[in-house]
Amino acid sequence: MSEVKLHPSLDNGIKPSAADFAGGSLQCLCSTNKVEVAIGAQTLHNHACGCSKCWKPEGAKFAVIAVVPRDNVSVIANGEKLAIVDASATIQRHACKDCGAHLYGRIENKDHAFFGLDFVHTELSPQSGWAAPGFAAFVSSIIETGTPPAEMDAIRGRIREIGLEPYDCLSPALMDALAAQVAKLNGVQAK
Ligand SMILES: [Zn+2]
Ligand SMILES: [Zn+2]
Repeated sequence: MSEVKLHPSLDNGIKPSAADFAGGSLQCLCSTNKVEVAIGAQTLHNHACGCSKCWKPEGAKFAVIAVVPRDNVSVIANGEKLAIVDASATIQRHACKDCGAHLYGRIENKDHAFFGLDFVHTELSPQSGWAAPGFAAFVSSIIETGTPPAEMDAIRGRIREIGLEPYDCLSPALMDALAAQVAKLNGVQAK
């Protein structure tokens, strides 16, 4: 096993997505009175993320985060324990005030390319079959939170070894979606 630790759901073998998987629930890490969120669909674009904003479990260098249409996300238990981490951020991350786990992140700006999609960490789910991670985003950003630059070759090597491509922004498909939205807002959308 590699010395390089990325995230528990990457280090111990990536679980494959299940065909016809239609959702489940997420639970915070509190031992009692868990915040619970129902997710009524399979997730999309699951990926490892090295940015400083995504929630990471203890000791992990990366978060693992996916999106799901917001209409499929509903808080079903102990929602009074949720608070928005940073209301000024593009993604409003709703976290448990007691354990710190992020239950869902929501974009309220209707002009954003990803408006309508909530960000979720399916490692918080007791079910298996969720979409498997497909790439690693914002890999260089882990330096901002304390990873020595000298470790980056080994970290990128390990990401490739487990079958993911390391990107220092989002994947090309998602960067294209963001740029296409800018073109649309600027009235120069290609035909
Ligand atoms: Zn909690
Ligand atoms: Zn992130």
